[in-house]
Amino acid sequence: TSFADLKLSEPLLRALNEEGYTTPTPIQAGAIPYLMQGRDLLGLAQTGTGKTAAFALPILHRLSTHRHPAPARGCRVLVLAPTRELASQIDASFVTYGRHMRLSHTVVFGGVGQGRQVDAMRRGVDVLVAAPGRLLDLIGQGHIDLSTVEVLVLDEADRMLDMGFVRDIRRVVSMLPKERQTLLFSATMPRTIAELADGLLRDPAKVEV
Ligand code: AMP
Repeated sequence: TSFADLKLSEPLLRALNEEGYTTPTPIQAGAIPYLMQGRDLLGLAQTGTGKTAAFALPILHRLSTHRHPAPARGCRVLVLAPTRELASQIDASFVTYGRHMRLSHTVVFGGVGQGRQVDAMRRGVDVLVAAPGRLLDLIGQGHIDLSTVEVLVLDEADRMLDMGFVRDIRRVVSMLPKERQTLLFSATMPRTIAELADGLLRDPAKVEV
């Protein structure tokens, strides 16, 4: 398979070419066709396998082909990640792959002031990458509204559970539309993850690398 075979839009193919990506990794070749069809996905993959592009590329494809603005304080795509480092890396990946399309995005996490994050969300964004704790703080204060989320990604779900975020995740999910696409990535599949996936995913495709 090539990236062109995966039917990704031209601006994405151009960015991938510039990044020197020639061939999809196994998680990308396995997951992208399902995600382009709008399927939910359970992805069993470690860091370093190219899992970020596996979800970012089909999400960007959707944003580039179904254009409409996010509402004030809202987002179209929500990515939950366990740490500020991972959240920042994911946000940077969206910027890299989305550099030839119009994309609004921001990242929120704790340990820094809220002001810039609140300002960034005021007009709404296409893609919001968030650590769960700060996200809930900002929702509680009325700065973020999740009622228009079209796609939810849980990245490194096993680490989020290890860090005690399971209740936060469930609270966030309870604020999302029922009608949405949901992706869950985890490096391991303990029973707690299987149960979480069971509650969140609808007829998911499963891809393991
Ligand atoms: P990840 O597993 O998402 O953390 O990605 C691991 C690394 O692989 C990152 O530095 C990506 O830039 C790189 N990468 C992802 N997909 C590809 C690809 N298809 N070809 C070459 N490098 C890639």
